[in-house]
Amino acid sequence: MLAAVVRDYDAGVQLEKLPDPVPSGDAVVVDVLGAGICHTDLHLLQWRNRELPLIMGHEIAGTVPGYGPVLVHQSWGCGHCRSCRRGEEQLCSDVTEAGFERPGGYAEKVLVPHPRYLIPLGELDPRRAAPLTDAAATSYRAVRRAAPWLSSEQDRAVVIGAGALGQFAIQFLRLLTPAHVIAVDLSEDKRADALVLGAHEAVTAKELGGRRAEVVLDLVTEDDTLALAAALVEPGGMIMRIGSGNGSLPFGRGVVPPEVTFMSARGGSLADVTEVVELARAGRLRWETEEIPLTDVVGALDRLARGDVQGRLILTPGGPA
Ligand SMILES: [Zn+2]
Ligand SMILES: [Zn+2]
Repeated sequence: MLAAVVRDYDAGVQLEKLPDPVPSGDAVVVDVLGAGICHTDLHLLQWRNRELPLIMGHEIAGTVPGYGPVLVHQSWGCGHCRSCRRGEEQLCSDVTEAGFERPGGYAEKVLVPHPRYLIPLGELDPRRAAPLTDAAATSYRAVRRAAPWLSSEQDRAVVIGAGALGQFAIQFLRLLTPAHVIAVDLSEDKRADALVLGAHEAVTAKELGGRRAEVVLDLVTEDDTLALAAALVEPGGMIMRIGSGNGSLPFGRGVVPPEVTFMSARGGSLADVTEVVELARAGRLRWETEEIPLTDVVGALDRLARGDVQGRLILTPGGPA
């Protein structure tokens, strides 16, 4: 199979012909049709903290003989611990994940340890569906956990960062809560998209004009956005950090208003991903994708690093539709 492999961080991602994965036990092989390129993949290359060789790609969709078009849940737990027993394998301390510890979707085929990680896509196109497993499910779970703070139309939710995850977060806030949703982004294009996707307002941080919010979802999570979140949150409100930025926020008296709850997001559970697929199949979610041949992976990563993308870039190892 063709795969994009990192063997040396200085050399970066390189295309190679590798033997096809061979399933044993419960494992199944997915023929990859779409692999989303996530910002986290750029961080993996920057931070250089993963064991090599590495095949990135944790947003995977494809087909499996006998199963049809499927989305792959990326987090594979030990199966025995408390988190795994509760169906929260993404929280397992021994979790291994496609595109991190295990070979991921930047390849024509992926070995998945058990068919329970395959979510049927029905009529959804796997080339478009890949971001549902991470970008959408992570936002979905975050909004689900924030929803108790957002019970009326007077409650405000601020979304910092209207990129791929933020665009899903805005839609889930509108689907799951009655709250007034404000998107904050420096990019005029992203603010325009946020309004189309249902945000009541889309502004720059300055334009908030001192207004505060019950919930602040920070999808950038740099030092300055977390400080903005602390300045925006109401007493008794909540701040959710989502995404893979490296910022931090001091957790001290006087730094944040009283009784603020902090939560961190980390992917979605198998149930979250399944619910997201149901919403997508019901036509209730919108997301933009651009398909790129696997052979153009290096150029695609460069484009994402430059911010030169509209929707999710999707590698299509199986070729275009
Ligand atoms: Zn990701
Ligand atoms: Zn476990």
